[in-house]
Order: sequence, then structure tokens, then C-alpha cells
Amino acid sequence: MIYKRFTSGTIASCTYILADEFTKEAVMIDPGYTQKEADVFIEEENLTLKYIIDTHGHADHIHNNAYFKTKYGSEILIHPLDANYLENPNMNLSEYLGYALQSPPADRLVNDGDEIKFGREILTVHHTPGHTPGSISLSRDGAWFVGDLVFNGSVGRTDLTGGDADLLMKTLKEKIINLPEETKIYSGHGYYETTIKEQKRVNPFFLNLMGGQDE
Ligand SMILES: [Zn+2]
Ligand SMILES: [Zn+2]
Repeated sequence: MIYKRFTSGTIASCTYILADEFTKEAVMIDPGYTQKEADVFIEEENLTLKYIIDTHGHADHIHNNAYFKTKYGSEILIHPLDANYLENPNMNLSEYLGYALQSPPADRLVNDGDEIKFGREILTVHHTPGHTPGSISLSRDGAWFVGDLVFNGSVGRTDLTGGDADLLMKTLKEKIINLPEETKIYSGHGYYETTIKEQKRVNPFFLNLMGGQDE
């Protein structure tokens, strides 16, 4: 598996590229503000960018959807409940950032349990709402790409368009906290991955949920 993280901008937005090392088929998770470095990487590794996967519809995660789709002919994948964020500057928050971002529409809508195949690799889609209604996480072999659901020591904001704090906690409780402790968590912002084990130690939202689980 080829893996690369790009972190950029003042809010340390993360874009990830994953690829099958033999077929060179690749996916990009959240084309936020990274552009040139990703182009260089794609060229150097001779990758075919098959899919652009948006963990949710906020501008800092979809900013370069149009750029990469146009350049590489990739398909844009998003959950149906966030699909309307793509072309709506109010929903995707670009309006608040001072511009009007309109991504191309989704080529394919992905739901809980769907598999995204590239080469011999597979990412499984998990519907993990709360930060937005259609937020998804993507898993593969002990690694979870969670968008703005969980950060090292925190969770995603729920005061933005479509946010729901109770729903986010329900998602954490039902889909995240009981994953194997060695599971690696790759967030939508930040410079380092973390683990479930680490978050059970440092993340107040995890600790809060665990409060009722002790004997
Ligand atoms: Zn967001
Ligand atoms: Zn974000």
C-alpha cells in the first residue's frame, strides 16, 4: 500500500492519498488545500487517481475537488446526506470564508457498508454522522480515516451547518470507541495519526463515554 499525508493551511487540513503499489490505482481522501505537492506525488509514483472521497461536505475538505477531478478525470464520492453541500456555498461554509465554492456534483454516492475498490485494495465506508449528517469514515486493515469526527484529544465541531452533538457522541459510542485499541486514527486535521488506545487516555470525549463502563 502506498500512503501519503499532506497537511496544509492554517487549520492543518489533511489530504490523504492511498494507492495499490502494483496497479498504481489511487484514491484521494479530502482534497482540501493541498494541490501542487499532491500533483508531484501522483506524478512521481505514476498513480492513476481513480476516486476523490470526501469524508464530508465542508469547504476545507472539498476545496480542490474540481481541480483534481478536472486534472485526472477522477470520480467524486460522498455520502448522500452531504451531497448537497458540494454545490452550496452556504452549506459548505465557503460563504463564511469569503468566497463561493461550488464543487462538481458527486459521481457516486456511498453508504454505510459500501466498499471502494482501487487495484487490489478496498476501503470500507462507515456512516459516522454528527459533525455533519453525511460524515463518513473509511477503514482498511486497522486504519480508520475519520474526517472531522475525532481529533487527537478532541472531536469535530457540531456548531457548524448540519452539526449534532448528541449524534456525534452516539457515533463515537457505537462505532469508534470499541474498535481494537491498536486501531490507527487518521483525522481531517493535524500532523500525526493517533490510536484508539491513546484517545482512551487523553480524549475527554472518550473518557466521558468510558465513565459508565468501569466496574
Ligand atoms: Zn468539517
Ligand atoms: Zn475540517
